Amino acid sequence: MIVVMKAHASPAEIEAVVTRVEQAGFQAHKIVGVERTVIACVGEERGKDELSQLEFFSGVDSVLPILKPYKLAARELHPKGSVVKVGKVEIGARKLAVMAGPCAIENAHQIESAAHAVKAAGAHILRGGAFKPRTSPYSFQGMESEGLQLLERAGREVGLPVVTEVMDPHDIDEIAQHADMLQVGARNAQNFSLLRRLGKVNKPILLKRGMSTKLDEFLMAAEYILSAGNPNVVLCERGIRTFETATRNTLDLNAIPVLKGWTHLPIIVDPSHGTGAEALVIPMALASIAAGADGLMIEVHPEPDHALSDGPQQLRPERFAELMKSVRRVAEAVDRTV
Ligand code: PEP
Ligand code: MN
Repeated sequence: MIVVMKAHASPAEIEAVVTRVEQAGFQAHKIVGVERTVIACVGEERGKDELSQLEFFSGVDSVLPILKPYKLAARELHPKGSVVKVGKVEIGARKLAVMAGPCAIENAHQIESAAHAVKAAGAHILRGGAFKPRTSPYSFQGMESEGLQLLERAGREVGLPVVTEVMDPHDIDEIAQHADMLQVGARNAQNFSLLRRLGKVNKPILLKRGMSTKLDEFLMAAEYILSAGNPNVVLCERGIRTFETATRNTLDLNAIPVLKGWTHLPIIVDPSHGTGAEALVIPMALASIAAGADGLMIEVHPEPDHALSDGPQQLRPERFAELMKSVRRVAEAVDRTV
């Protein structure tokens, strides 16, 4: 259920509702909007009849059921869409947010050179994997702690916030010390204990879609983070497994308008993992923006031919600059800026 307060409800009236909701055995999540406050009541459906009485409380405008299984992620809660801040960068506002950088941090020179290149081309957030989820245990696993420090330093040097993946709940505190945003990769999209722990972190989370996660399951994964107390979640469509083998994954751009209807959370697209092929990244990045995405995640490597992971899909800096130029034109067409 959600309790919508009247536009001029007093703090005391709001607190009285919160107290009643908690007495009924629900968690009360207060969402303070520009015009009015909304209180989301999250818990088992059993006590919900008690909540309907809140309609008669002073300062309450209406009490509405949220029919979807995800409550805090539901668009009803934030009809205008939420904006998540990563450092000073906003994701979900009119201006698009572009994250770019190598698949993995490989050495100081590589990440610094990528950082300078993506910054010069207009990226807003630097990406780079330090803890890498590799299909084979024999592949390069990332530079781990050392990589985190290199990423932080490179980001600082060029003035960009940084995002990197967390795979293991034990690494959360360390990663949160060095990164401005924590990424949950496709392989961990339904690792519920990891998601719950990320709900306690004071940093925004980039949640990637699992390779075989349906969109309602994707939002339930986000709900784990939200319900554990972290309201700052950005979704990332990165392609799914289908019968098609021509591309590494099938980038599901239907997901953008569908999710925009279902949730208030910002949504970005990763056409690098979505296609697995350098030549397909620019067209699918443009299609993503045309479909309404709030931003992009693009793998960029100074020397893709020598990359230790995902070489075939990483853009050279010049190609990334070309991508940004074209993205600007499509953004204008859909009334966004970059
Ligand atoms: C990544 O972004 O580094 C990554 C491993 O992507 P995904 O989890 O989408 O495969
Ligand atoms: Mn990669």
